[in-house]
Amino acid sequence: MINDISNNNTYDAIIVGAGFAGLYQLICLRDQLGLKCLILETGDDVGGTWYWNRYPGARCDTESHAYSYYFSDELLKEWSWTERYPGHAEIREYINFVAKKFDLKKDILFNNKVTSSTFNESENNWSLITENGNQFKAKYLISAVGCLSNANIPNIKGLNTFEGKYYHTGNWPKNDVSFTNKKVGQIGTGSTGIQAVPVIAANAKHLTVFQRTANYSVPARNQPLNDDFKEHVKADYKNYREFLKRTPNGHPFDISERLVSDVNEDERNEIYEKAWEKGGLQFRATFQDLVTNLDANNTAAEFIKQKIRKTVLNNKFADILSDIDHPYAGKRPPIDSHYFEAFNRDNINLVDLRADPIKHIDEKGIQTKQDHFDLDIIVFATGYDAMTGPLLNLNITGKDNLKLSDYWKEGPKTYLGLQIAGFPNLFTITGPGSPSVLTNMPMAIEQHVEWIRDCISHMNKKGYSLIETNNKVSEEWGQEVNKVANKTLLPKVKHSWYLGANIPGKPQVFMPYAGGLPKYNDICNDVKKNDYLGFNLS
Ligand code: NAP
Repeated sequence: MINDISNNNTYDAIIVGAGFAGLYQLICLRDQLGLKCLILETGDDVGGTWYWNRYPGARCDTESHAYSYYFSDELLKEWSWTERYPGHAEIREYINFVAKKFDLKKDILFNNKVTSSTFNESENNWSLITENGNQFKAKYLISAVGCLSNANIPNIKGLNTFEGKYYHTGNWPKNDVSFTNKKVGQIGTGSTGIQAVPVIAANAKHLTVFQRTANYSVPARNQPLNDDFKEHVKADYKNYREFLKRTPNGHPFDISERLVSDVNEDERNEIYEKAWEKGGLQFRATFQDLVTNLDANNTAAEFIKQKIRKTVLNNKFADILSDIDHPYAGKRPPIDSHYFEAFNRDNINLVDLRADPIKHIDEKGIQTKQDHFDLDIIVFATGYDAMTGPLLNLNITGKDNLKLSDYWKEGPKTYLGLQIAGFPNLFTITGPGSPSVLTNMPMAIEQHVEWIRDCISHMNKKGYSLIETNNKVSEEWGQEVNKVANKTLLPKVKHSWYLGANIPGKPQVFMPYAGGLPKYNDICNDVKKNDYLGFNLS
């Protein structure tokens, strides 16, 4: 057990988080630059998001051949996914495969949740303390904590009196939860809730879904991958790599250049119908203007609402589920496996919280304004304090005793989502202000990790020991993030976690960069070519 700061506990770089980002950063800094590195991780194994997200139905909505590291030819040739979309257990197998192949676990300290991170100005390094009292120092602190790792259980009166069990989907127990003969209540119908409903309903005695905001969803059409496809991916990985890096969202499909107004109603419906049958996130790529033009968006929105009304046989449920108040893909668009069909079961109920809000939770279940629901288990599929929450949890103090929580009082301010003024030598992989959650995450992660590696390599070659951005460029970058977001419908959506609006009291700032990964990559490369313009290296 490590318990004091000695030379052994001093590193060139400490990376926080052992998910996709942390592992690749370790490979880059340790194996490519020869630095002494350590990953600190809260969980007891690798996996990041997928370590925690084991809820029923948890599955990635990026197609598996794209939800992969692309930095290693060998890895691409050695690994085969089994389904169109990878399930949570298979993603953990993949991450473990990567950890083993690159011998990463020897430099990861599990069960070490970082509780405090402080920059020492006299030494130009970071001090870290973990929950169990271990202390470390590092020249560079690199956060790989993910964007959606801070589970949010809403503050509902009486939860602590509930005599049953309750779980948040983002913090799901390792030993499977049994729903057999149980009356279950699920709060939340975002991407997570929509995946969980059909699986819970199929296993529980009864499921009551508590919906605050109705949501769109398109069928995922998950299926096992056949050998031909697996071979094709292995043979063609160079083309896939090139493709994924040039599409705005890093997904394996093109966004159409046609506008909704380019086609007549019949043609449009035929296009939507084909995309519905094919399934997946490419539904939103059927027309170029779906997320920029409300009239165009309304056509897709209406198409999906019709599908919901056709699928759901109970008219009351169909009305509640199709009464959607925001544009399609204005929030992250879910994809599903038989979500709407699940409402045709006879062991399911749907409560419209807009009409009948939750008053409190008591020993026996959930009390709404009009009704009481007896429950054995409550599932919170209520989302995350996204993007800023995981970083603020590191309890970061920078120069002049500046606390990140104070610096970000009005919302996150970063330069390129990579660095924060006043916090030297701290890099934030997929931080607020970068494309991150608007893309296929492994693509955004690889781009950031490689940029950070190149930056540190440059500093080492030039003999610099400190890198810091400033307020001026951070403000300008914040304006750019807003400008780009305002060209889309995304910032106008109520309750969106992209804005922080899902967390009471959180400042509302549109957090991800919506200009697409290739454009963002060009900006980062220009900064690099121009001697790290916007950063002070000393
Ligand atoms: P989310 O999108 O934030 O959805 C949370 C749900 O909980 C919403 O329906 C929300 O209602 C509801 N809710 C929150 N607080 C509530 C309260 N106090 N009372 C009643 N309802 C409440 O969270 P998520 O579904 O976990 O998804 C978050 C993100 O994770 C996704 O957008 C996606 O990026 C990622 N994700 C990806 C996958 C995948 O790859 N397949 C799967 C799951 C999640 P309101 O809408 O009214 O706020």
